[in-house]
Amino acid sequence: MLVQPHLFIPGPTNIPEPIRKSMNVAMEDMRSGEFPKLTLPLFEDLKKVFKMKDGRVFLFPSSGTGAWESAISNTLNPGDKVLMSRFGQFSLLWVDMAERLKLNVQVLDEEWGTGVPVEKYAEILAADKGHEIKAVFATHNETATGVSSDIPGVRKALDDAGHPALLMVDGVSSVGSLDMRMSEWGVDCCVSGSQKGFMLPTGLGILAVSQKALDASKTSTMSRCFFSFDDMIKTNDLGYFPYTPATQLFHGLRTSLDMIFDEGLENIFARHHRIAEGVRKAVDAWGLKLCAKEEKWHSDTVSAILVPEGIDGAEVCKTAYYKYNTSLGAGLNKVAGKVFRIGHLGAVDEGMIGTVLFTVEMALRDCGVDVTPGAGSGAAAEYYRSTSTKSASGT
Ligand SMILES: *Cc1c(COP(=O)(O)O)cnc(C)c1O
Repeated sequence: MLVQPHLFIPGPTNIPEPIRKSMNVAMEDMRSGEFPKLTLPLFEDLKKVFKMKDGRVFLFPSSGTGAWESAISNTLNPGDKVLMSRFGQFSLLWVDMAERLKLNVQVLDEEWGTGVPVEKYAEILAADKGHEIKAVFATHNETATGVSSDIPGVRKALDDAGHPALLMVDGVSSVGSLDMRMSEWGVDCCVSGSQKGFMLPTGLGILAVSQKALDASKTSTMSRCFFSFDDMIKTNDLGYFPYTPATQLFHGLRTSLDMIFDEGLENIFARHHRIAEGVRKAVDAWGLKLCAKEEKWHSDTVSAILVPEGIDGAEVCKTAYYKYNTSLGAGLNKVAGKVFRIGHLGAVDEGMIGTVLFTVEMALRDCGVDVTPGAGSGAAAEYYRSTSTKSASGT
């Protein structure tokens, strides 16, 4: 194949060349005296990405799902009551895991296309005078529906109720792309993974943990082994790991963090917002709707776009893939066939979005959706052109 398939799924995301090249290194001795020179700064720099003042970050050789399991199994006890909400495939899977790990889950089922029901959380927490609820879970960015939720709002609900429950956040498709302020928002466990905002291959479960969650882990009785905080802490403090770490991914992470700090976190968030706005202009121009029901739920990392009645979203993805060499995200579970998704996180710029919008227009027309060729890509182009802050002279 002459041209790599254009990748617009919301993870794994495109890997910048400097990151990919930095991982092409020989195997090395993970017990050498030199190894901590690579690892110790990674831990410190990750804390900057999560904006943490205390606590620590764990790097598991797993996907993000492993970091979910680690967060639960180290801080809670079997039978603990926890508050969760389900409004998309990823929040659904987290509920499923919590149930399988024998937590007593109070689940709020919300319409897919909405997010964490902050007002309901506030009512439930205020009514829980005996503090039976040990943890509150929130999916920051529901990747299946393109919905972002209000994490500071969840913090406020806890604070207003004077409630001591831990706050557990799934930031797999937000951290590194959307603002995450662990300390300011009082997030106790924030779960992420390498293959989304960090622009790396899959293989690192990244888990940021507050001091409060570390303290909870000292008395928590749930079984854990591979994902144990204690085993990690014993070796991590010296820059080592309790088992063979993913050394090449660490080199990639080094480059990724360098690139993140070079661009600047706030600039990255602004770029994601602007890129996403362009996609939303295109959706409007096509006369289509997002799965996200209201503006406050709009995700700046992924857009799930509803196809008109009678059209199969899976056909749109298949057409884009086989006819136009472009991967879109398919609809999952309840929204299977009803949406297609454009991932716009990590290493993305205006021209890349132009490519995907142009392709989507062709695929939609092939599938019987009456959009005007160029309408969406044109609307995005005009938006990007008129809002660019760069000068034409490179200054
Ligand atoms: C991708 C994703 C996950 C799962 O992560 P894996 O790395 O695939 O295990 C969990 N939650 C959200 C919000 C995601 O986007």
